Amino acid sequence: MDIKSNIEKIKKETGPSVTLVAVSKTKPIEDIREAYAAGQLDFGENKVQELTEKESVLPKDIRWHMIGHLQTNKVKYIAPFVHLIHSVDSEKLLKEINKQGKKQNRIINCLLQVHIASEETKYGWDENELNEFLTSGRLAEYENIYIQGLMGMATFTEDQRVVRNEFKGLNTLFNKLKTKFQFPNLSMETLSMGMSGDYALAVEEGSTMIRVGSSIFGNRNYNL
Ligand SMILES: *Cc1c(COP(=O)(O)O)cnc(C)c1O
Repeated sequence: MDIKSNIEKIKKETGPSVTLVAVSKTKPIEDIREAYAAGQLDFGENKVQELTEKESVLPKDIRWHMIGHLQTNKVKYIAPFVHLIHSVDSEKLLKEINKQGKKQNRIINCLLQVHIASEETKYGWDENELNEFLTSGRLAEYENIYIQGLMGMATFTEDQRVVRNEFKGLNTLFNKLKTKFQFPNLSMETLSMGMSGDYALAVEEGSTMIRVGSSIFGNRNYNL
């Protein structure tokens, strides 16, 4: 299957209310051009350097999503153009994004990454931390930030029940926060969950945005 048919297949499966972010990390410019030619405008990358390099040579109407762990000292490189940062995992990072947004005279869209997996290694806030932060009211001070929702990654396991439960839990939290907190710069409209192996489950459990790499572009080879 080619890139275009893969995109069409996924879109058909998930329907028009789910945004597909094509995860192009490690993939060459030509692959992105091929997806773009098929009408795909949302692309996700997980490394700042790769993201900025690709952005500089590709069409300007592409919406770039930062989906990987972001270090505060690198925010400045993506602040001028990034469409949505999915991986905001601390207030320290939020503060830096706000600062760089101010410098660029932009409001930067963000998702708060929630730790839902059982693995220790995955980044993100837990429910208590999110409640504490949002209750504090400090979000209102970050005038160059717009929080559009939540992002989560399920445990890497074959066990569909585990994955489904984690997605269900994240959707419940998403709805709780939506009714509990009102800020001018918070909307809770985007729930980013689901990758190649689990996007169908994620959509069943309320995902509005899926991040799909290998099911579009094929397996990644990190040894190139
Ligand atoms: C790589 C990556 C994806 C896509 O993974 P696939 O399994 O190739 O679809 C999604 N989300 C994040 C955060 C990633 O790093």
